[in-house]
Amino acid sequence: MNHTSVKELLNTSPSGQQVTAKGWVRTRRGNKNISFIALNDGSTIHNIQAVAEISAFSEDTMKLITTGSCIAVTGTLVESQGQGQKVEIQAKEIQVYGTADVETYPLQKKGHTMEFLREIAHLRPRTNTFGAVLRIRHAMAYAIHHYFNKNGFYYIHTPIITGSDAEGAGEMFRVTTLDLNKLPHTEDGSINFKEDFFGKETNLTVSGQLEGELAALALGKIYTFGPTFRAENSNTPRHLAEFWMIEPEMAFYEAKDNMDLAEDMLKYLINYALQNCYDDIEFLNNMYDKELIARLRSVIEKPFTRISYTDAVEVLKPKNDSFEYKVEWGTDLQKEHENFLVEHFKGPVILTDYPKQIKAFYMKQNDDGKTVRAMDVLFPWIGEIIGGSQREENFEKLSSRMKEMHIPEKEMWWYLETRKFGTCPHAGFGLGFERLILFITGMNNIRDVIPFPRTPKNAEF
Ligand code: ATP
Ligand code: MN
Repeated sequence: MNHTSVKELLNTSPSGQQVTAKGWVRTRRGNKNISFIALNDGSTIHNIQAVAEISAFSEDTMKLITTGSCIAVTGTLVESQGQGQKVEIQAKEIQVYGTADVETYPLQKKGHTMEFLREIAHLRPRTNTFGAVLRIRHAMAYAIHHYFNKNGFYYIHTPIITGSDAEGAGEMFRVTTLDLNKLPHTEDGSINFKEDFFGKETNLTVSGQLEGELAALALGKIYTFGPTFRAENSNTPRHLAEFWMIEPEMAFYEAKDNMDLAEDMLKYLINYALQNCYDDIEFLNNMYDKELIARLRSVIEKPFTRISYTDAVEVLKPKNDSFEYKVEWGTDLQKEHENFLVEHFKGPVILTDYPKQIKAFYMKQNDDGKTVRAMDVLFPWIGEIIGGSQREENFEKLSSRMKEMHIPEKEMWWYLETRKFGTCPHAGFGLGFERLILFITGMNNIRDVIPFPRTPKNAEF
């Protein structure tokens, strides 16, 4: 390696050693004799300062060193004279890899709006904010694998192209190689998908759960962590058309075990972020959201409130006047209700045992005949971060629920067979990765916690 990362250099005690740093110029200031160049290479939120005596360099080189240009600086690592950094590089040699025209480089000035930065998603990773978010995102992905591995879970890759649309009726992206201008038809005039690539209708997956269950009923504890796709036209700060989901699925886990796992995992991940990404979180805290660190800490410290849907409705009903959507038993809860509950209980809430008519067919039916063993985890700032349930393991009950809900049993034969052969109690949940990153970064909009967001009418980069 012919250079050292800025992160490593900033942690090195200077003893006059020769070093090379490579990165992008954040700012350059100084006078006609001396230049102070703040260099960032993405390894950390912090810049290293390179000090260049102008007389030691050619005028041609110096004029290329502007905000956004990419350079290599070689020189002596010394204790910094100035404030704000411990070490700096006394530049001896500077190589310019790439210039950035002062007139046209869009990140010339500081303080751009998030909306503007979305329009230049190809460059926004070079801002402090997106550097911090992307490093945190990386650390969380790593921590998730680490958490499951140390707890005996196996990582399963479930398919991205799926032939079942059981869960996502109407919300799926179709996958096809048919020529849309010359669609083949059957005799009755409908489209003949037998001629399509897979010989049947296929879509992008909305969840890896169903296949995850198959694996859990063999390997015990598994998780998936992959992209999921939803064509729902919800243009909200909490929804993407392409997002990443973590879906653990565990044989022999019942509702309470499922909740315990969800709570333990979320606390582990938040704690991991505070331990390992403190510089980045502190930057975001100071820049945008002075309560971020306190909010993260408060979630780790207390047990989550666990309450049934039915009891939550009793908490909400007296407040109906203040809600846009009125609550009564049987209605789905909206963001405003989730927010109210989280504030009312002063922290995360796990809601359980929802009415069966607002939940998916595979959830375990309770003895009351009205509710299913669902659990949603609601978070401050976010609303729903996790949705999950104990699964219906009884063949007859599952099959009759599918009939009621018009889920085509014929297409789902493989899923139903797990309830015929060696079925067992099992449970699982889905954690939205970007919602987790939203919570940990305190960002306002889910479009700003994924490098290249996919939302309605937006797939530019
Ligand atoms: P919501 O009610 O917020 O639309 P959902 O109930 O449709 O979510 P689930 O099907 O339960 O979501 O998916 C599990 C988790 O995936 C959710 O708890 C959430 O964290 C995340 N999630 C769901 N839809 C999206 C989306 N469009 N964009 C980003 N994350 C999502
Ligand atoms: Mn849900």
